[in-house]
Amino acid sequence: MLVDSHCHLDFPDFADDLDGVVRRAGEAGVGILLTIGTHITRYDQVVAVAERFDNVYCTVGIHPHEAGTEPAADVETLLRLAQHPKVVGFGETGLDYYYDKSPRERQRDSFRIHIEAARRGGLPVIVHTRDADEDTAAILAEEMGKGAFTGLVHCFSSGPQFAEKAVEIGLYVSASGIMTFKTADILRDTLAGVPLDRLLVETDAPYLAPIPFRGKRNEPAYVAHTARRLAEVKGVAFGELERASTENFLRLFSKVKP
Ligand SMILES: [Zn+2]
Ligand SMILES: [Zn+2]
Repeated sequence: MLVDSHCHLDFPDFADDLDGVVRRAGEAGVGILLTIGTHITRYDQVVAVAERFDNVYCTVGIHPHEAGTEPAADVETLLRLAQHPKVVGFGETGLDYYYDKSPRERQRDSFRIHIEAARRGGLPVIVHTRDADEDTAAILAEEMGKGAFTGLVHCFSSGPQFAEKAVEIGLYVSASGIMTFKTADILRDTLAGVPLDRLLVETDAPYLAPIPFRGKRNEPAYVAHTARRLAEVKGVAFGELERASTENFLRLFSKVKP
């Protein structure tokens, strides 16, 4: 069984065929789906998806793109919303200096608030970082110094130094369809260096469909293509990658009880 550790099933892209999307995931051997919160104001919709399917779980948080427009997160609210049995982590949060859709100061404040919720709530934080590796690494290291928390860097697309740093401070790394792209040699080399017991796989659906679906709407079933490529890159059998990435997911997201 595989896990899609990061998708966005509440997005309008899936409104017409959500049952089909979840069914096809099952047929492709993807047994657990984690749908990720991006807006506190969409919490009800995200939780509703998780409540509708036994094998779908969710997270609560504010995407860095929305840090400037969503009501600012506070730790108590995040902790309260995470008491729902299907809410198993915080995020996605982090820093996106590529699109810069929110003021960077707001992104950093929101990021630290999510980390504090993760620390106090004992649930992992899902980190998004783009063109912001230096600040992301600095905040993660500094916050880890204040008190331990768990988490992962999702849709990993950073360089080897950042990967090493993430692993060193105890975080997990999640590979998306980007690592199947033709031009992603450096990323594949970087992922090859991440220990097998720290790797997860994800789609980030509806975005970033892996080869051979690049450019189309992505969906959780396609995570199998990323997992196959990652097994090649790691030099292990597909079954071993499948087992390791699922065990890693369940160790990290310990609130998920399949
Ligand atoms: Zn993201
Ligand atoms: Zn996402």
